[in-house]
Amino acid sequence: AKEQGKNNYVFFRENMHTEPYERITLENSLHRALEKQEFIVHYQPQVDVKTGNIRGLEALIRWQHPEFGLVSPGKFIPIAEETGLIVPIGEWVMREACLQNKRWQELGLPDFRVAVNLSTQQFLKSNLVETVKRTLEETGLAPQFLELEITETMTMDVDYTIPTLRQLHELGVQISIDDFGTGYSSLHYLKEFSIHRLKIDQSFVREIMTDVNDASIVETIIAMAHNLGLEVIAEGVEEKEQLRFLQCKKCDEVQGYYFSKPIAAKEFEENFVELQRQ
Ligand code: C2E
Ligand code: CA
Ligand code: CA
Ligand code: CA
Repeated sequence: AKEQGKNNYVFFRENMHTEPYERITLENSLHRALEKQEFIVHYQPQVDVKTGNIRGLEALIRWQHPEFGLVSPGKFIPIAEETGLIVPIGEWVMREACLQNKRWQELGLPDFRVAVNLSTQQFLKSNLVETVKRTLEETGLAPQFLELEITETMTMDVDYTIPTLRQLHELGVQISIDDFGTGYSSLHYLKEFSIHRLKIDQSFVREIMTDVNDASIVETIIAMAHNLGLEVIAEGVEEKEQLRFLQCKKCDEVQGYYFSKPIAAKEFEENFVELQRQ
């Protein structure tokens, strides 16, 4: 139905963030962006607080649009969600990230996880477990080196979430809850979910040094995660003071501009030694 009304329906949508013209153009060109190979994946290191070693990399999609230049995922992911295009796009990112990680292993880099963001549709409406299984088989990446990031809101239907996460867990991949603290998390179910890691949302980390509430929220999430046997990673770490605070509170890993922006795979390879030393 959305296909048919492509030129009209966008004017009547309520959650429209982009200008109508831009939105229509983006939506039209999004349909062909995959086959035209306009997407690239950037990677942002996730660093072990204790050792300074890189433990993982988050895969973040970028779109090089012929007319608009680099379009941020914040702009096109919502459109991709609404049109259903997110499913093939998300599967492409997963495959690309697995292939890349496999290549790094073959280059002799140390083992790390690669973390892929799942969209709501991918989690709820696609044949996710099969897709993950097939992607691992086809790329040859061992399951423990793939991590899937889901958000709290995706987990609302616990009757679906619990068995799905269990199946993914049985495949051997890792699961993290992204943007933790911003959704309606049912803390009650957290222990029922087969997950490995909570990612503290960057909105809490941003004001860790100036807002005592944010500081205590972060401290509480870390303690709670550890009590549940989960690891914690803080995202959006930009300053040394934030890192110190997180170190002091025993956060396991950190990710943010303080270490590196998301960068192309090649740039990561070239800078690996320096990144690792920071
Ligand atoms: P996210 O998953 O929460 O990703 C973190 C975002 O924070 C990324 O923005 C990253 O570049 C940015 N970031 C990292 N470190 C810092 C920092 O120190 N300070 C600040 N201010 N920002 C930092 P990006 O790459 O623009 O992605 C935005 C969102 O788009 C992501 O939020 C995610 O929800 C979505 N996204 C990105 N790639 C994919 C994808 O392949 N699939 C899906 N479904 N969503 C994606
Ligand atoms: Ca994420
Ligand atoms: Ca996040
Ligand atoms: Ca976010």
